[in-house]
Amino acid sequence: MIPIFDSKRQYSQIGSEVETAVCDVLRSGCYILGPNTKALEQELADFIGCKYTVGLNSGTDALHLALRALDIGKGDEVITVAFTFVATAEAIGIVGATPVFCEINSDTFDMDASSIEKLITPRTKAIIPVHLYGQPCDMDTIMSIAKKHNLHVIEDCAQAIGAKYKGKMVGTFGDFGCLSFYPTKNLGGMGDGGLIMTSNEQLKDRVIALRNHGGAVRYHHDEIGVNSRLDEIQAAILRIKLKHINEWNEQRRAHAYRYNELFASCSDVQTPVEAPDTYCVYHQYTIKVPNRDEVFDLLHERGIGAMLYYPIPLHLQKVHEYLHMSKGSLPVTEHNTDVVMSLPMFPELTDEEQQTIAKTVIECVELSKSKAAV
Ligand SMILES: *Cc1c(COP(=O)(O)O)cnc(C)c1O
Repeated sequence: MIPIFDSKRQYSQIGSEVETAVCDVLRSGCYILGPNTKALEQELADFIGCKYTVGLNSGTDALHLALRALDIGKGDEVITVAFTFVATAEAIGIVGATPVFCEINSDTFDMDASSIEKLITPRTKAIIPVHLYGQPCDMDTIMSIAKKHNLHVIEDCAQAIGAKYKGKMVGTFGDFGCLSFYPTKNLGGMGDGGLIMTSNEQLKDRVIALRNHGGAVRYHHDEIGVNSRLDEIQAAILRIKLKHINEWNEQRRAHAYRYNELFASCSDVQTPVEAPDTYCVYHQYTIKVPNRDEVFDLLHERGIGAMLYYPIPLHLQKVHEYLHMSKGSLPVTEHNTDVVMSLPMFPELTDEEQQTIAKTVIECVELSKSKAAV
């Protein structure tokens, strides 16, 4: 079986360093918001090129507390995409605001910036673009629309640490960038974790208070906050991994281009399209194939761990029934949901494995077509 992601291979590279660092934390007696979190926040701010970062419990909390810090809540609307992980829209729901789903670009899988303006109402407060699969959104257009209509922008960078748009890191365009350290992300911890990036001092201070029960000074509480602190063990592990992020992202890119070559002869497999002037970090390598469901099953029978990200678009999820968006309301999103398939992608993937995967995908596509023809 070739898995979609293999965390054990990475552990064999850095395991002894991680074990030393974790034991140091255990011996230190300081387990939450200590020196490792502080150092990680600084190192990530330097890496991203923003003034501040604040370590949190998860990427979901990063999105949720970014919205809170911008005073977005009940009665407000936030424009985002339905072609993403549920947490993007869930964060909007958590603060009591309403998600407004925007169409995607069929090539890049990201928010179709030309579809944003018609969704803006007097209640619209923010846009959350998602740099899906590690592919940067069209930030020039999104930022100019936001500026024109006086909207906030929160970038969902959960899948895109290190990705760049016109040479600038994603997460530095909007009021906030949000990262997730879920283990399978490009920079993944060994547990849950997340972080916000911002260059606005007041917004940074607000998130610092919100993550710790709504008060910057201990036992002084100004508003309802949450418990969303990053723990020292995760921060210590993430500091070790951060040193490798450029190398690991480069390896992902090399694998993506190798897949592209391996599929070049097969016109039925549509390989990912990069928008101009972007540096994509390939959190996922996502293709489009005919007879997708059948190809997917055939691949699993043959030991290829393909995955569907994501099998149901968010506007058609039960949780969003109250929005009354029927099937057909986001045709590009829905079509892509039916044809995409992500293939194994992680830095340690080997050439032989990629050859096996590509050969098997092409075989399964052919097989599904001959079955369909009968
Ligand atoms: C992973 C992910 C999140 C949520 O991050 P968690 O750390 O799992 O809470 C949000 N948005 C996207 C696009 C993600 O991939």
